[in-house]
Formats: sequence, C-alpha cells, structure tokens
Amino acid sequence: MAKPGLSETEKIVTIFGFLKCSPSLGSLSGNGSASLCVGQLAETIELSELKAKHGLSMNIKIWDFFVKSEFACKCGCGSDHISNTLVNMLDVARRTAGTSFRITSGVRCESHNDAVGGASNSSHVGGWAVDISTPDSRSRSKMIKALREVGFNRMGIADTFIHVDIDPDKSDDVTWTY
Ligand SMILES: [Zn+2]
Repeated sequence: MAKPGLSETEKIVTIFGFLKCSPSLGSLSGNGSASLCVGQLAETIELSELKAKHGLSMNIKIWDFFVKSEFACKCGCGSDHISNTLVNMLDVARRTAGTSFRITSGVRCESHNDAVGGASNSSHVGGWAVDISTPDSRSRSKMIKALREVGFNRMGIADTFIHVDIDPDKSDDVTWTY
C-alpha cells in the first residue's frame, strides 16, 4: 500500500503501477502523467472495481483539467461514454498548451448527431472525438502543437474549433479542414 502523505494520484500509481502507460506521453514523475496512467487503466477496468478490489476509499481524481460531464451529449440525453484514453491525452495536451480547452462537442447520441449535421459515421457517436473551441489564432497554434505532441494524428481544423479523435475504425494521420 502507498505511504501516508502521498497525493491521491501518487497512491494510485503506487498501487497499480505504470504498465499500461504510454511512454510516448512523457515522464511518469509528474501528477499529469500519473493521472494519465490511472485513466488508461480505467479504460479496461472500472475505477469503482479497482477501488473495491484494493480497498481504496478515497475519491480518485482522474483528470486535472476536465470533468466527465463536459464531454456528455449536449442534447441532455445523458450519453457520456467518452473514451478515457481520449480525455487522458487531452489532459496532458491542455497542461502543455497552457490555454483553456473548452469542449464544444464530445459524445453525441445518434439523434443529436443528426440534429447538428454530423457525419453518419461520426466519431463523436462512439465517444472517440471532441471539438475544442479556438478563440484566436495564437491559442489555435498552441493547441495544435500540444495535441500533436501527445499523439493525436486525426485532426480537423475549423474556423472556430479543432476536432481531434482516436476513432479505432478510421485511418491514422489525417488532417482536414471544414
Ligand atoms: Zn443526446
């Protein structure tokens, strides 16, 4: 078990280890990267299950800059099956970029996707995609750089937002405009 005095994130990392962390996402010494590891484990095992299994009673904070509700379907239907891996990557990118990441679209249910004119095979429906507001050209530049650095390679650049996704059913290394 973790030593007293460690932060929540450090305790989790001590318990669950780094095995599933992506080495491409930087050093594992900081809280940001540690959060990333926790989230990646959560992709395959529910955090509640992990907590029960290991007797953890603390509330686990997964992300430094985001809460899950930011990624829920905007129609209010409650769909919130956003990929934890996606948000882990965003959390690291957000720290690097040093500029606000306002999520304008995350998960979309089928009907909301139709309502906003999304593609029929939209990655938003599967919970693999986000659109992030870009208030100005300098922010856009910082965001693109940071998003690339954490490994996003599917990116759409619009006048007012950037779309990134990690849709496993789509091609890598694609950048498009709207
Ligand atoms: Zn919906």
